[in-house]
Amino acid sequence: MEKAAVVVILLGPPGSGKGTQAAKLARETGLTAISTGELLRRESDSGSELGRQVGSLLHAGLLVDDDLMNEVVAKLLAGEDCQKGCILDGYPRTIEQARFLSEFLEGHGLEEPMVFDFVVSPEAVVERLSQRRQCPVCGHIYSAEFDVYGKDMVCEVDETPLVRRSDDNPETIRERLRIYEGKTLDLVAFYKTRRYFALDAMQAPDAVGAELISLLKVPMVLVKGTAGAERCSLNRSIL
Ligand code: AMP
Repeated sequence: MEKAAVVVILLGPPGSGKGTQAAKLARETGLTAISTGELLRRESDSGSELGRQVGSLLHAGLLVDDDLMNEVVAKLLAGEDCQKGCILDGYPRTIEQARFLSEFLEGHGLEEPMVFDFVVSPEAVVERLSQRRQCPVCGHIYSAEFDVYGKDMVCEVDETPLVRRSDDNPETIRERLRIYEGKTLDLVAFYKTRRYFALDAMQAPDAVGAELISLLKVPMVLVKGTAGAERCSLNRSIL
């Protein structure tokens, strides 16, 4: 990565809208969006031995091993696509992953990540996950709440029939939320004193996106997010 590269982390429970915003932000900023969940799903679909192991963890809503995730992300960050920076959706998910990422960035002379925490009620998350659909080809995400799905349940981009993710079933959703609360939520405390913003992710996607973009544009030292007063040590606009 170039010295001025920026790493944006989208933090928040499953179903809080990170995937939708990562794709939108990538289009608007030219930064590369990395969804670790999407990478793992692709590996699982490939039928490889690793994919088989990963697939059973995904199906159960359990986390994949930190070392493997760190290795995958480090390789991507060092690659050509991330020269100008990237948007991380779904990574880090544990304190060990967050520490690894900080050390990686520091070791490469890069700035700390900017963290956007998607704050949403647990009830809304369960509702959104059980209703959402995805295009299996282009990955576009559709929500019952905001999109009423693609026309005739097909993707508006490539007309592929939409599917429900296999881990968006009530039992796995419960497990994923339990893991989020038990492990990933610790990352809020880890990042809160750094470059951290809380976003009101109960808003419609366009409003969340606009807030995200405006926060990325602000070259200031202290910003008040909609979900409360949040500290930020941004000293330049990245856009
Ligand atoms: P997501 O698409 O972000 O909801 O992730 C789907 C699933 O992939 C999760 O429930 C985990 O099983 C796995 N996963 C994604 N990212 C990570 C990560 N950073 N660490 C461990 N497991 C992950």
